[in-house]
Amino acid sequence: MLQDAAMVSESRDLGKGQAKCPECGAALKSKGKRSRKLKTQRNQEISLERDYAQCPKCKTGLFPLDRELGLLEGELTPQMQQSVARLGTWIAFERAAEEIRHFTGTVVSKATVHWSYKLLFATSGGSEKSGITLSQFRRQL
Ligand SMILES: [Zn+2]
Repeated sequence: MLQDAAMVSESRDLGKGQAKCPECGAALKSKGKRSRKLKTQRNQEISLERDYAQCPKCKTGLFPLDRELGLLEGELTPQMQQSVARLGTWIAFERAAEEIRHFTGTVVSKATVHWSYKLLFATSGGSEKSGITLSQFRRQL
């Protein structure tokens, strides 16, 4: 938990550099602060306040800090998400949710396990088309 919290709090200033649009390269303009809550161990929530930025040319909107931190979508900190997803590759999602609750004290749903698992699989280069099988994926972890 402390590691996750420190990662988030030490990085509050990271998004202040001149972020560029990933689509066209133009300088992004801040559209104000938005907060996001991330759940970590012992069911504690970390609140992250960061800029929402938009491209003046192509209107692409994003959170530069989320990108710098490598935050994926979802309610969990990256460390929690990784743990949940890894467990989800070995045991049934419902059981994984119970084990996460037992070992970390954090309440996650079966759907969150499934979703985290799919996200990890996708960000590891896996997809139905890529031909990476589940057992190959497990060996990579
Ligand atoms: Zn753009």
